[in-house]
Amino acid sequence: MAYKSINPYDGKTLKTFEELTDQQLDKAVSTASACFEVWKNMTFAERAVIVSKAASIMRARVDEFARPVTEEMGKLIDQARGEVALSADIIDYYAENAEGFLAPIKLKPSSGEAEIESAPFGVLFGVEPWNFPYYQLARFAAPNLMAGNVVMVKHAGCVPQCAIAFEKLWREAGAPEGAYTNLLISYDQVNRVIDDPRIKGVALTGSVEAGKIVAGRAGQNLKKSTMELGGSDAFIVLEDADLDKTVEWAVWGKMNNTGQCCVAAKRIIVVEELADKFLDKFKKALASLKSGDPMDKNTTLGPLSTEGALVKLVDQVKRAVAKGATLVMGGQRIDRTGAFMQPTILADIKPGNPAFREEFFGPVALFFRVKNEDEAVALANDSEFGLGGAVFTKDVARGKRLASRVDTGMMFVNHPTWTTADLPFGGIKNSGYGRELSSLGIQEFVNKKLVRVASIDAPA
Ligand code: NAP
Repeated sequence: MAYKSINPYDGKTLKTFEELTDQQLDKAVSTASACFEVWKNMTFAERAVIVSKAASIMRARVDEFARPVTEEMGKLIDQARGEVALSADIIDYYAENAEGFLAPIKLKPSSGEAEIESAPFGVLFGVEPWNFPYYQLARFAAPNLMAGNVVMVKHAGCVPQCAIAFEKLWREAGAPEGAYTNLLISYDQVNRVIDDPRIKGVALTGSVEAGKIVAGRAGQNLKKSTMELGGSDAFIVLEDADLDKTVEWAVWGKMNNTGQCCVAAKRIIVVEELADKFLDKFKKALASLKSGDPMDKNTTLGPLSTEGALVKLVDQVKRAVAKGATLVMGGQRIDRTGAFMQPTILADIKPGNPAFREEFFGPVALFFRVKNEDEAVALANDSEFGLGGAVFTKDVARGKRLASRVDTGMMFVNHPTWTTADLPFGGIKNSGYGRELSSLGIQEFVNKKLVRVASIDAPA
């Protein structure tokens, strides 16, 4: 069974869920299609009432929403509560701003009138990952629902309770049946949904492997898709950075969500002058993290999402070391029940080592020392990924210049890559294409339609 809620803190199975039959799936797509015909004709203000209600329900019941996140994928409870609040912010942001973002744009043709309207595509299909079980859904659902689309979502197999809670949220907020549909379906059924002519667009957030399969299928069907894929963000530290504060941010950037962020600070790149001091402090800070029950507020190191994820990561570190990397600290599972891994630092990772190009999804930092700024940029760009990145320096103008030279979708100066409703999120290269959030995210699945009025007597 693909949909299982297993607590990675103690390995206990909490609940399992049956997949839909093909008949149930077809019925769900029909319901969503019928819903679109009603939903698209509602005004922005009418949709906003429902959408903002969903945000206020999340805010009013933070603990109820946060608990299954911690229980199903091990996120520290305070971080889970933070995710609920962030998701509510995103939902509200689109309730408030969608109408303005999608307002008709008047053009100035040489004669007559012209404008660009934004019309919804129809039923959209999203495939979403477990690492932010609500935030990822909010990013996809809120802008698209406000644009007049309806959405169907296949969530990750390990977070079915979050998936179901998020679907219930929309019904409770007053959305008609079919506006938001959770689909507990197999990979074969994912293909079936993408092939279905009633589905008009496809979005995936997840690994490069899944992205290639889902984008490929959407492409065969000539359907628009957006891909939010993996990353190996550079966290660049220049010699003039504030050491103490930068180390604090490095720990946050690397260890938030137990390192399971697409934009985690996966490659720490430090200019030689500061490298030893930085590494020393970084090591000490990681060593002081306390593993424990993620429901306990005093725990600072949670388990990984699943036992499988832990086994894969420990093996990945082993292979990196076998190919010449130096294990600065960690590298093993922690000797206790649950999917816990020691905070880990790898150094001396040379271009021939597979680790040089791989994404490490968990509490493993890759540490690089470079001679100067130019080497830092070259190393940051020597990656198939291009999601986010960060540079730390007291000279903001210098930080901005460096940011412009790094080939990614997002660069931050003096902060690790992070997300808010009003900032666009997405990458280039193998990190995918398209953007979510901000004014850009709502434009992906709308028809930018030209309406031109000309004088009937105008020349051809
Ligand atoms: P994943 O294994 O690719 O799973 C993501 C989603 O795709 C899940 O719902 C999964 O379902 C589904 N899926 C996987 N293979 C599929 C296939 N062949 N056909 C149909 N559906 C398929 O990724 P993950 O391990 O959950 O998430 C971690 C990855 O996501 C990392 O690479 C991370 O960097 C990336 N990520 C990117 C962003 C971004 O915005 N760029 C944000 C978060 C995460 P099952 O769970 O049922 O397998």
